[in-house]
Amino acid sequence: MIRDFYESLAFYTKDRKSLTNEIIEDIKRKEKKFVVTANPEIIVNALKRNKYDSIIRNANYVIADGIGIIFAAKLLKKNLPTHVPGIELMEDLLNRAVDLKLNVYLLGSTEPILHRAVKNIEEKYKGIKICGYHHGYFRNVESVISDIKKAKPDIVFVALGSPIQEEFISDHLSLFEKGIFIGVGGSIDVLSG
Ligand code: UDP
Repeated sequence: MIRDFYESLAFYTKDRKSLTNEIIEDIKRKEKKFVVTANPEIIVNALKRNKYDSIIRNANYVIADGIGIIFAAKLLKKNLPTHVPGIELMEDLLNRAVDLKLNVYLLGSTEPILHRAVKNIEEKYKGIKICGYHHGYFRNVESVISDIKKAKPDIVFVALGSPIQEEFISDHLSLFEKGIFIGVGGSIDVLSG
């Protein structure tokens, strides 16, 4: 069962630089893309729940975030996915966002942690255009969606943890005109400290 699942998931297998370049090309073409940074927990959720399984399958990029994914692929003698931790993909994209003056939106974590992360990102990535941000403990999803829409982001980092972040992206992606939506788990917490 796990073997079938792995075989049907299109893990990204090129190198990390190609991944960032491909995403940047998507942004330049004003495309809309859903990126899953998969760890074993995500795979277990997908195996347990049909809806989540189809969410992951519909993602445009499935990146092996956790080293556990690589071990499993080795055991199953599968093509090795490229190991790119979500936080590192986020950092690569933040660097490129500065150069290309891209609009970046952050969603997730608690308000004080998010504020610290925004401050740290602005200090570390000089000139970054953070077009908006919202904490991840909202009740009114419509107001969050409208805030993201107004900000017209090129990249939306969704740090709500799994499975909430993938469900959030999948449920609302059709409402946006463009943007790269990436589930990045606890990355805002990491960047806050
Ligand atoms: N989170 C959130 N809203 C929620 C639940 C969680 O913003 O309703 C945030 C939480 O504050 C933390 C992140 O989501 O910043 C989850 O981090 P974790 O490391 O648990 O995610 P994982 O990488 O394991 O999916």
